[in-house]
Amino acid sequence: SDALISVRDLTIRFRTDEGLITAVEKVSFDIAPGEILGLVGESGSGKSVTAKSLMRLNGENTVYDPESRITLNVPGETPLEVLSLRRERDMIAIRGGAISMIFQEPMASFAPAITVGRQMVEQLLIHTSLTEAEARELSIEMLARVGIPEPARRFDQYAFEFSGGMRQRAMIAMALSTRPRLLIADEPTTALDVTIQAQVIDLMKDLVAEFGMAILFITHDLGVIAQTADRVAVMYLGRIVETGSVRQVIRAPAHPYTRGLLDALPKLDDLDAELTPIPGDIPSPLNRPSGCVFHTRCPQMIAGVCEGRVPGYTRLGDGHDVACHLYTEQAMEAAR
Ligand code: SF4
Ligand code: MG
Repeated sequence: SDALISVRDLTIRFRTDEGLITAVEKVSFDIAPGEILGLVGESGSGKSVTAKSLMRLNGENTVYDPESRITLNVPGETPLEVLSLRRERDMIAIRGGAISMIFQEPMASFAPAITVGRQMVEQLLIHTSLTEAEARELSIEMLARVGIPEPARRFDQYAFEFSGGMRQRAMIAMALSTRPRLLIADEPTTALDVTIQAQVIDLMKDLVAEFGMAILFITHDLGVIAQTADRVAVMYLGRIVETGSVRQVIRAPAHPYTRGLLDALPKLDDLDAELTPIPGDIPSPLNRPSGCVFHTRCPQMIAGVCEGRVPGYTRLGDGHDVACHLYTEQAMEAAR
């Protein structure tokens, strides 16, 4: 496969006082070089846990089922099995090297007692062969590139001296300065006001086009995905329930959960239309529903089928897959 990163049957559990809980179950997806994949779902759906696993950032209590595979395939380099890495040197090569991550709260990326510039330089010294002077020059250039005025002065400031939008930009500058192959953006614009949000999204798209990197863009907001991504994977309670191009999934959503997410979004052509939130709450991972994980909230639940069997994927079109018995039953009926 020519995927940059390939995830197969990823199942992630956490050891807790209440026993093992399942956060992610049999998740598979690919991201091609230069592609923006949107991962969408409510909070608690396993989006961030999935993303962190690509950099092995999930912590000591994490258990990956043995069939789980994450393969990083940088063109011209030996493919890496991320979940099999044991050496610290290989981890460092991934974290901030081949893969960088930006977060909703940029303060999480900055050490409070080190200037923004110093931190950028140190990261470059770890991940590149640049000299200190070159690293300084590149850092200032990157701050300018993301639209920070007076970058040379800002270089010597601390993150708390930046406004929220500036901090977000500085975090992006730092994450991109090492030229990662994959940028993971976890709700990067959620805390920003709408205007700055749009600017940050445009900036990320420009940088993708310029550097040719791939992005895994995580959000609870399908509207943001529609503006940003090439393809989308919809997650619910640790499972990918639908995946396809943005056009396929947003224009012709097939899974009842995807339809529910879209019905809960304001319609641009009819702002007075009533919004219909998805009824009920996402169940606790301690209490995962049997069969289809969405059956406790699904308006189209087929009694006797959906609570008993996990739906497999049905291909609806080129690259458009859905995991729902409405389609498996249809397939069975059509076959009769
Ligand atoms: Fe609803 Fe059944 Fe489809 Fe699950 S499998 S989404 S419960 S119709
Ligand atoms: Mg999250």
